[in-house]
Amino acid sequence: MSIATPPPTDVATVKHFINGAHHESRSLRFGSVFDPSTGEHTRRVTLADAADIDAAIGAAAAALPGWSNTTPLRRARIMFKFKELLDAHTDELAELISREHGKVFSDAKGEVIRGLEVVEFACGIPHLIKGEFSENVGTGIDSYSIRQPVGVCAGITPFNFPAMVPMWMFPVSIACGNTFVLKVSERVPSTSMRMAELLIEAGLPKGVFNVLHGDKEAVDGLLTDPRVGAISFVGSTQIAKYIYETAAAHGKRVQALGGAKNHALVLPDCDLDSTVDALTGAAYGSAGERCMAISVAVAVGDVADALVAKLAERARTLKVNVGSDPEAEMGPLVTAEHLAKVTGYIERGVTEGATLVVDGRTLKSPTEKGFFVGGSLFDHVTPSMAIYQEEIFGPVLAVVRVPSLAHAIDLVNAHRYGNGVAIFTRDGASARDFVHRIHVGMIGINVPIPVPMAYHSFGGWKESLFGDHAVHGMEGVHFYTRLKTVTSRWPRGASTANAFVMPTH
Ligand code: NAD
Repeated sequence: MSIATPPPTDVATVKHFINGAHHESRSLRFGSVFDPSTGEHTRRVTLADAADIDAAIGAAAAALPGWSNTTPLRRARIMFKFKELLDAHTDELAELISREHGKVFSDAKGEVIRGLEVVEFACGIPHLIKGEFSENVGTGIDSYSIRQPVGVCAGITPFNFPAMVPMWMFPVSIACGNTFVLKVSERVPSTSMRMAELLIEAGLPKGVFNVLHGDKEAVDGLLTDPRVGAISFVGSTQIAKYIYETAAAHGKRVQALGGAKNHALVLPDCDLDSTVDALTGAAYGSAGERCMAISVAVAVGDVADALVAKLAERARTLKVNVGSDPEAEMGPLVTAEHLAKVTGYIERGVTEGATLVVDGRTLKSPTEKGFFVGGSLFDHVTPSMAIYQEEIFGPVLAVVRVPSLAHAIDLVNAHRYGNGVAIFTRDGASARDFVHRIHVGMIGINVPIPVPMAYHSFGGWKESLFGDHAVHGMEGVHFYTRLKTVTSRWPRGASTANAFVMPTH
């Protein structure tokens, strides 16, 4: 069964969430939602039409004057309450994620917690949007800067993090005084609906946060509507480029995070056993459906043979099962299409001449159905191969052998993506040199998945990010606010003479 198959009508329908309530749509288009462990159609999701798009943006626009004039302290208090509710409902949200995405429950819980950390960051909004004040920039003249909300903001998010990626965006945006329309991936629609309900329970006024489900039609509506001031996007590079260009052409502020091919450099002096443990989790965790997954291990010098042997042993013994199995290390892929894409890449790697050391296609599905594939490992991969150049987004790890650290750095810098990278070594000088020279946004030193904490900012370089701002942390606050700088004088007595030259103080 595939996502292109029309969904059956006897399953529950996921509706939009507009102006504080589930929204009845007249749209006759629906998307399919599956349980990836069994391959069964479990729900259908309404795909927005023009009336739905107008209703969602209209609700956000109507709520804007009231919300943007609500004091930052009141906005922070609602965020505190939302954080408490997320704490109380973490398991429930994680189950929704696991059921629609397929990732194991503990991993799903982890993503809720990483999202919740952004909410904790947003609770500090009164401090974060404090302006700056300079007294006496000239005689009797003061200057100060303030940050004001952008207006109606929209977020468009991918399937792989149904809770965390939306929470990279909306808590900061809302706390800054904006209103928000979230267009989540149509493959995993339910988690955002529950978060919308929890926001209302936390005291958020109706219309401040809206969820619109849909496909290209909904996205295009958000990109072109003049009432929307800022667009945040996370997804594949192909769509990120389109989002960036279209939103910018319509005068919007835009940040568009794209795909990745993250390398891990393994130096001969590393602690090999702990490096292999780290790489196994980073390559195969969440079935490789993470933008920060390690998909290339760069074996530097004579570490290669031992590295491949140990990785192969771990890949062969991965515990693959349904997400609810507490022992499972990896679940299924998200859809039948995605499974076909990943297995197609495995075949392509073989055709291109790489050595397939472990073939995940031989895995017997634990449910005898569903979208399962085991972990795969390729050795002797070269930079010209498609399995090296392209993002597979599945549990496939490619080993590239290079003679030196300098070769490894050149390899990473030549790649079109620059999201994450890691180095495993005991040598501080090599690691420092690597940090200085590498053209990648997020770097781990003996840390395989260096996802920045909420109070730092997440974003790659090159084709992994289009736009000037990364997400969350202060970059997020700056993205979701406009700067205003005021120069002020309150003269006493007679006014000063006209001045025709540039003022100097
Ligand atoms: P995707 O690009 O297919 O979809 C992302 C969003 O765009 C979805 O909401 C989808 O409905 C919408 N969309 C799809 N086709 C569209 C079109 N033609 N026009 C307009 N909108 C469209 O991505 P995905 O498959 O859901 O997610 C996986 C991708 O996301 C991977 O490439 C992964 O690397 C990337 N990702 C990147 C980051 C990051 O931080 N850089 C984080 C997570 C995921």
